[in-house]
Amino acid sequence: MTERMRLAVPNKGRLVEPTLALLRDAGLVFDAHDRSLVSRVQNVDLDILFVRTNDIAEFVGDGVADAGITGGDLLAEAGAQLPIVRELGYGRCRLAAAVPNDATYASIDDLGGTRIATSHPNTTRRFFAERGIPVSVVALSGAVEVAPRLGLAEAIVDLVSTGSTLVMNGLRPIGDVLASQAVMVANPAALISRAAEIATIDTMIGAAQAARGKKYLMLNAPIAKAQAIEDLLPSLESPTVIPLAHDGMIAIHSVVGADEVWGLLPRLKAAGASGILVLPIEKIVP
Ligand code: AMP
Repeated sequence: MTERMRLAVPNKGRLVEPTLALLRDAGLVFDAHDRSLVSRVQNVDLDILFVRTNDIAEFVGDGVADAGITGGDLLAEAGAQLPIVRELGYGRCRLAAAVPNDATYASIDDLGGTRIATSHPNTTRRFFAERGIPVSVVALSGAVEVAPRLGLAEAIVDLVSTGSTLVMNGLRPIGDVLASQAVMVANPAALISRAAEIATIDTMIGAAQAARGKKYLMLNAPIAKAQAIEDLLPSLESPTVIPLAHDGMIAIHSVVGADEVWGLLPRLKAAGASGILVLPIEKIVP
């Protein structure tokens, strides 16, 4: 019997909840109440390994796990050249350079000769070396944003999503080092030996992702109004038109963008639609 495939996912931090939600939406059935190290997926030959987000690139790189989900920034920091199977669209942030509000540095090019505090020393060193800007990197494991105030550094390179932490600490961003989001990566050998299993997980995750932004719209209308109603529906999706038992009436079904529903319903109603239903979609496989 072949060994069960192993997928490494974060056990702590901000990537945990969206990752577990995505895997469940993809259709994997597993228990993760206690975040024990390994969770056996009940309906697929797959074990989920819960490990530190920072260790995932290494686990996947050395084959302890066949695939993993982690932040793009952490892959870059680990220097891991792992194949990215899919970008997951959450955990979006950027690694930005920032300086105290009253400092005169206007852009990244002005940082030559400064000390830069960061929890991403490898990425930061590589970034400035590639640009030929000599800096001295001060590696910190946390609280990077207080480093300028403590006199440890003139600038920082830190993860930013909204920028509110920078503002709270009297800092302003002057340029980006890296844009990041959560990604699914695979071990290069597993990508070949477990190609079918990885492709299935990828298809199911993609199907769940695609469904998140869509709704299923159902409505009834008099046949005479069908064209006016179809004209309102997104042109990419050809709507399903079904005759109703009630003479002269049809049902129209269509997939629409979740963000379009707000604008669409009143217009459909005005065009003669009735019995309009908007339903969630679980998966879409194009
Ligand atoms: P943490 O929750 O601190 O363990 O962060 C785990 C990962 O979440 C980071 O490595 C990033 O990939 C991602 N992330 C997304 N937004 C942010 C943010 N605003 N600050 C820090 N990390 C973020």
